Amino acid sequence: MKKVLFDLIALQDVDMKVRGLKTRLGMIPKERKKFEQALDDAESAIKDKRNKLKAIELNINKTESEIAKFDDSVRKLQSNSALVKKNNEYQAMLLEIEHNKEKISNLETELLEMMDQADAMKKSLSTEECQGAARIKSIKDELDELVTLEREIKEQGRALLAKSKEFTAHVRPELLERYQHLLKGEGQPLVKLKGEICGNCNFKITPQTRNNCLSGNIVNCDNCSHMLYHDPNSSE
Ligand SMILES: [Zn+2]
Repeated sequence: MKKVLFDLIALQDVDMKVRGLKTRLGMIPKERKKFEQALDDAESAIKDKRNKLKAIELNINKTESEIAKFDDSVRKLQSNSALVKKNNEYQAMLLEIEHNKEKISNLETELLEMMDQADAMKKSLSTEECQGAARIKSIKDELDELVTLEREIKEQGRALLAKSKEFTAHVRPELLERYQHLLKGEGQPLVKLKGEICGNCNFKITPQTRNNCLSGNIVNCDNCSHMLYHDPNSSE
């Protein structure tokens, strides 16, 4: 293989690695966002249950103090009953006591339901906290790995870019210009000729271009203008 071709292939190998790293690097923000969202979801599932439990407990406290208030009122009415002389007032008072007792009974039923709810919520919260902690840890580990990966890719990228710059110096300016122009587009700038077919666009090249290529020159594909070379060791 001619040195000019050898140098260009070496440069392209490095540049293709850089391109691959850039593609990988470009995927990282989306992946990070996905993990951050998952972390947010796991944390808010726990927070949500804690808030619900807190709300139930607040209601329990409120109901307990309401019951205490009615209890107090019943006690006062009962202790005042001896002082009431008129029968109609006495009846009214009994009715009020009855009324308050009914309210207490209703509130106590509600209280029991709320206590059941609180117990269920505590269990659910404890399960969520346990599972959530494992989930959160695993997501955080994945995020850490992603940060490491990003750093490694950048380091590798910097080393490869330095190598690319170094290899660039070995390539003839007019070849380099063509190569760098093609590098900005898609596919590999320099590809093997496969029989009569361009390795980039898979179109058949003209016999003249093919002959030129077979004599060891780097030629341009008639269709996609990518650089073509002939590899005498290749079976293609
Ligand atoms: Zn082509």
